Amino acid sequence: MSESEWKAHQARVDALTRVLAETKGPVRLKKSTSNLFRQRAPSDRTELDVTGLNHVIEIDPQARTVDVEGMTTYAELVDATLPHGLAPAIVPELKSITIGGATTGLGIESSGFRYGLVHDTVHELDVMTADGTILTCSPNENPELFYGFPNSYGSLGYATRVRAGLIAVQPFVRLEHTPIDDPEKVFAAIGEECANPKCDYLDGVYFGPSEFVLVRAHFVESLPAGVQASDYTWMRQYWRSLRERREDYLTIHDYLWRWDTDWFWCSKNVGAQLAPVRLLLGRKRLNSVTYQKIMRASHRFPLNLLSRVRPRTESVIQDVDIPIANAAAFLADFENSIGIRPVWICPFVVPDDRFSLFRLSTDTAYINFGFWDMVRSSEADGHYNRRVEQLVAKHGGKKSLYSRSTYDEKTFWSEYNREVYETLKRQVDPDGRFPGLYEKAVGQQ
Ligand SMILES: Cc1cc2nc3c(=O)[nH]c(=O)nc-3n(C[C@H](O)[C@H](O)[C@H](O)COP(=O)(O)OP(=O)(O)OC[C@H]3O[C@@H](n4cnc5c(N)ncnc54)[C@H](O)[C@@H]3O)c2cc1C
Repeated sequence: MSESEWKAHQARVDALTRVLAETKGPVRLKKSTSNLFRQRAPSDRTELDVTGLNHVIEIDPQARTVDVEGMTTYAELVDATLPHGLAPAIVPELKSITIGGATTGLGIESSGFRYGLVHDTVHELDVMTADGTILTCSPNENPELFYGFPNSYGSLGYATRVRAGLIAVQPFVRLEHTPIDDPEKVFAAIGEECANPKCDYLDGVYFGPSEFVLVRAHFVESLPAGVQASDYTWMRQYWRSLRERREDYLTIHDYLWRWDTDWFWCSKNVGAQLAPVRLLLGRKRLNSVTYQKIMRASHRFPLNLLSRVRPRTESVIQDVDIPIANAAAFLADFENSIGIRPVWICPFVVPDDRFSLFRLSTDTAYINFGFWDMVRSSEADGHYNRRVEQLVAKHGGKKSLYSRSTYDEKTFWSEYNREVYETLKRQVDPDGRFPGLYEKAVGQQ
């Protein structure tokens, strides 16, 4: 790609920084999609329209890097890299997640057992701070902000450009589904792959205490004679296939988006697992963006009337990271006290322990458990989300902050490094134009 792409990028960033420099007072992002699962409180903050920052600037096939604007979705990014036989080293599962959102919010995928989290694959990024200054950050330049950016959720500035690592991929993947009935065996098998990776992608699903399916994906150049790649983008559901077959083939494109069509399995919450609904919605509308729109609308009148006749429920939508040695014990506690099923299992390693706001250890692999459902409740609101926080603490893990959090301020900052955060906040946003991390994560600003 050419110099003109860089010039156009610079012009878009200049326009944005001018707005920030010329306005006063609190701001927040204006975007057309979001994967944030906490309700945002109403606010009179000036909205900063960043929707135009969604261009792939340059792909360097030799260096295997891409320079891309911060609000570019992974769907757009993957479309740009696949023709080069390359994909981002980590591609979060939902098409509308952006590279800036995933870097600041700890993106994960089934290649994490090789490469870590999204921010582990970022070489450099430009951060727009509260006065409109752009700071280029890398391990060598503004390293404190580089290492403090992940888990700051836009409270220290916005990523306008990210340089991220790419990996070589092949046109298809062969999937091996291994049913396992014992949690210790599941985590032992995962531990072996993390220590000595043999497959190209690895994740799994917990369907119940003695029903796990581990999925190993291997790149393949072509399909075996007489075999067709499966299609889970309309009437058939990927998550169901894990229990139904031992082997499968997908195009690399469909593998990367295998969880998007049914939002893992959460499409059931909007009736989209019923055949007539799928038929009506059609291929194009079966995706996570549609479900997000429906879920957000359902919080508003008149759909909310349903909540008066339904049993009371609490929404528990969380991803948590547990050291692999404690994973089986965490899952047993989780089953006993919360009991959501299925649960997504995604292992990852920690290549670098310098990321300061979400400290993980390089000495162990971690298991990301993802669970997203409503729990019937006769308890006070927040009971089950608080219970998740207690279990994560008990098992030495960390909780992602994209969804509801109930921590009191002291506990929150003992987990997420107050000292480093406040030092950075004073440097890049001394007047508090962006909401603070605690106010965002717990106060829902
Ligand atoms: C049901 C569900 C399943 C999920 N599953 C996965 C998963 O499998 N893998 C995974 O990786 N993640 C998953 N997530 C989490 C998701 O990656 C994070 O919420 C991520 O931050 C969303 O990015 P976004 O681009 O949609 O940003 P948004 O939702 O728009 O924003 C998220 C936060 O990031 C900030 N932000 C957005 N863009 C930027 C930027 N350019 N610079 C700085 N700050 C920014 C916003 O201010 C906001 O605080 C899941 C979320 C949900 C709700």
